[in-house]
Amino acid sequence: MLRSPSLPTRMRTVDLIRKKRDSGELSREELSFLVSGYTRGDIPDYQVAAWLMAVWIRGLNHAEIAALTEVMLHSGEVLDHSEIPGKKVDKHSTGGIGDKTSLILAPIVAAGGLTVPMISGRGLGHTGGTLDKLEAIPGFNVNLSLGEFCRVLRECGMGLIGQTAAIAPADKKIYALRDVTSTVESIGLICASIMSKKLAEGIDALVLDVKTGSGAFMKKEEDSVRLAEVMVETGKRMGKKVVALITDMDQPLGRMAGHSNEIIECIKVLNGGGPADLRELSLELSAWMFYLGEKARSVDEGRKLAESMIASGKARAKFRQGIRLQGGDERVMDEPQRLPKARFHVDVTSAAGGFITGTNCEAFGIALAMLGGGREKKEDKIDHGVGLEFHKRIGHRVEKGEALATIHYNRDAKLVEAKSLISDSYHIGERAPIGMRPLVHRIIGA
Ligand code: URA
Repeated sequence: MLRSPSLPTRMRTVDLIRKKRDSGELSREELSFLVSGYTRGDIPDYQVAAWLMAVWIRGLNHAEIAALTEVMLHSGEVLDHSEIPGKKVDKHSTGGIGDKTSLILAPIVAAGGLTVPMISGRGLGHTGGTLDKLEAIPGFNVNLSLGEFCRVLRECGMGLIGQTAAIAPADKKIYALRDVTSTVESIGLICASIMSKKLAEGIDALVLDVKTGSGAFMKKEEDSVRLAEVMVETGKRMGKKVVALITDMDQPLGRMAGHSNEIIECIKVLNGGGPADLRELSLELSAWMFYLGEKARSVDEGRKLAESMIASGKARAKFRQGIRLQGGDERVMDEPQRLPKARFHVDVTSAAGGFITGTNCEAFGIALAMLGGGREKKEDKIDHGVGLEFHKRIGHRVEKGEALATIHYNRDAKLVEAKSLISDSYHIGERAPIGMRPLVHRIIGA
């Protein structure tokens, strides 16, 4: 039966799933119906999971990405920090293995006089999440109320929380569902997820760290560049200063992946040490934040400011203050044994001698999740003590039987599987690779 065009038709989720399944374009109203219905709890997980998979397969066009981002942004409040003097600047990464720069640059940039209102995520797919890492610190509360978040920001210039019922609630729910339905690696969904929570923070400027390589969601550089362009354009349209750095994720960043062990590595960098690649990227991202936040006249000047925040101990003191204000045990700064620790460890050794020519970096994250350092179902609890320690990097020589990595674990149910996954992830050849990939491949939107 034909419907009269003048009669309003009732929207049904099942029709919108079918429309996307059949490559149709969803209107703003349709996306709003889906997002608000799911956020309120009126649409069940299984229907949104089906819709997400249809989006993953069929993609979203520019108009749909813009509409989805706005609808998700307005699912909660958009913060206004105009009563706090100075610029508010943030950074967000698309995620990788051992990617922990947020916990280093937030204190650097806050110590340098900018405000960093950071809304982060939990582990997603094979990648780790800032909120889960922070929760390795005993007592640390990532679920501050809006009032508490603003108080912490006013007092110390940095605050790190998750999406809440008040801020970006749609992303909170959709993010958790994507994590367990293999629907993460989609340019439209990543853009809407990141930009909706970042635009809700009340920031003036944003630095995006868009990962590329075997440990990133976007494995090919051209896909990372497309994602970066879409996010930069979305931010600029909303009146923000945005740049994106395309950075390398063909191997883990730093030497540690996990939760407690990543916190320890961050403290090392704040103490002036730590692995060179992690220190370098943290300084580069901080430099851009200082530049966009108008604390430095150039990125070079921003880098000098960032270095001085570490050398003077101000960034370290800021991290300590931030931990205290969010209820965490600040003694972890000097006594890392206060962090949860795994009871056992075992080395993954090399089956052959030669040079490391590459890694399947994503598999490190999958192995970590298998050991309890990630989620397979929404309800799973993270084991903060488990972790991976990487001894060899691309270009390094390795002897047969030498340790490539160490696994720190509590339960051995999936240990054998995890061990062989890690061992198979190292590609070993007779010759060292020619020409190392730079840490920062290119910059979009500068
Ligand atoms: N980080 C996010 O916040 N969302 C994504 O979808 C991917 C990375």
